[in-house]
Amino acid sequence: MPELPEVQTMVNDLNRKVLNRTFLDVWTDARVIVRDFKKRIKGRKIKKIWRRAKNIIFELSGGLFLLVHPKMTGHFLYGEWEQINGEWVAISGDELKDSRNRFLHLVFFLDNKKMLALSDMRRFAKIKLLGKKEIDSELKDLGPEALEITLEQFNKTLKKGKIKQVLMDQKVISGIGNIYSDEILWHSKIHPEKKSLTEKELKIVYDNMKKILNLAVKLKGESFSNFRDIEGKKGFYDKERKAYKRAGQKCLRCGNIIKRIKLGGRSASFCPYCQKL
Ligand SMILES: [Zn+2]
Repeated sequence: MPELPEVQTMVNDLNRKVLNRTFLDVWTDARVIVRDFKKRIKGRKIKKIWRRAKNIIFELSGGLFLLVHPKMTGHFLYGEWEQINGEWVAISGDELKDSRNRFLHLVFFLDNKKMLALSDMRRFAKIKLLGKKEIDSELKDLGPEALEITLEQFNKTLKKGKIKQVLMDQKVISGIGNIYSDEILWHSKIHPEKKSLTEKELKIVYDNMKKILNLAVKLKGESFSNFRDIEGKKGFYDKERKAYKRAGQKCLRCGNIIKRIKLGGRSASFCPYCQKL
């Protein structure tokens, strides 16, 4: 599931490729999209693109906003495709032919003859066309951004509950999910189920959070799962991965075996030797 670094990578790429372009038309087979979506988005120019938590927001001309939450497997692609026997086939860029890039459910036709597509294998992505009031209300419950929160705020709000769950709670702090919470806690030598961290421990988690998220943004995210950048290429965070989905493998710090446990309906991977409860 794309988290802050992957969504930021998408936003950076989108700003490079589609800012100031106009949507001429749209094709979709997405069930969640309302009927007048096509009519309303036609002729709108993309004025601004930014990220809030794991949402991508396009500000369009005429006071409309396009909000996309990639959920499990959504990512944007830019290029050219043609429809052959009902299937979209990429005609530009070999990376677009990657198996993870072939689940197109939304295709925008732009005013430069290029296309912007959303590939979404699991089809859970949230796509909404909203007015100003609606977008504000959609985003109002989100906690502060992980890369912007101050240490003081962090100490105050992350004290309660099991640390991994709190880190992933978008109402407390936004942008972190399963991947980066595992990574941050491995680097911090903190057990995912640990509660009531001391100020010293919280400072370590805070510093690692900033370091890891910034590094992951620089490396264009992870592509161990489905995520690809706008050209269909993989991110480079995989080489840095220490805990996430490494259960059964050796801890890269102490050599003991990484363990996986269930935690509030999700899973946590950690080293039971380095990260003691
Ligand atoms: Zn270890």
